[in-house]
Amino acid sequence: MPTIFCIGRNYAAHAREMGASADAGPEAVVFLKPWQALVAPPGPLHLPAGATEIHHEAELVVRVGPGATADAVALGLDLTDRPRQAAAKKAGEPWARAKGFRGSAPVGPFVPVAAVAPLDRLAFTLTVDGAVRQRGDTSRMLRSVATLLAELDEAFGLRTGDLVFTGTPEGVGPLAPGQVLELAADGAPGLAARFVVAPR
Ligand code: MN
Repeated sequence: MPTIFCIGRNYAAHAREMGASADAGPEAVVFLKPWQALVAPPGPLHLPAGATEIHHEAELVVRVGPGATADAVALGLDLTDRPRQAAAKKAGEPWARAKGFRGSAPVGPFVPVAAVAPLDRLAFTLTVDGAVRQRGDTSRMLRSVATLLAELDEAFGLRTGDLVFTGTPEGVGPLAPGQVLELAADGAPGLAARFVVAPR
């Protein structure tokens, strides 16, 4: 079965907004999500009952092909229960409940790598109800896609079909019922995806 790998703190400005070190560090921060977390457009995205603050984290998602190379990419959201994550960090507990809950991995359509800009110069945006909330550019990643894939392959052994969430730029924030989220990339219209947050 494929694995969903996720990278933490891969953009300095986001690391700073979380109060974390903005250095690349000796190793990538890696966590996993279960496959039950995946949601295709348009959702709806169901915010977990009882959750007070589910944050959007817009990210480039890479699908792994033969030889641990990038085969296709999509835009997705690493949805995060921020209060739970903060409590887990404080208690030294895992992030699975904060970042791996049902529906925590909305991912748009995959586009072959050959059909998009170089993966180290790909700009993308997330708008919520028409207002830009996050702007990312993979040229600002602390670790490039190629570096991440090599590091993950070395540590875990990548398989064809694995997905890698490559980290979020600054501008994360809470979602509310009924909002419309649109992901888009410059020069790659096929990467666009639209998700709707379920009404309360
Ligand atoms: Mn993330």
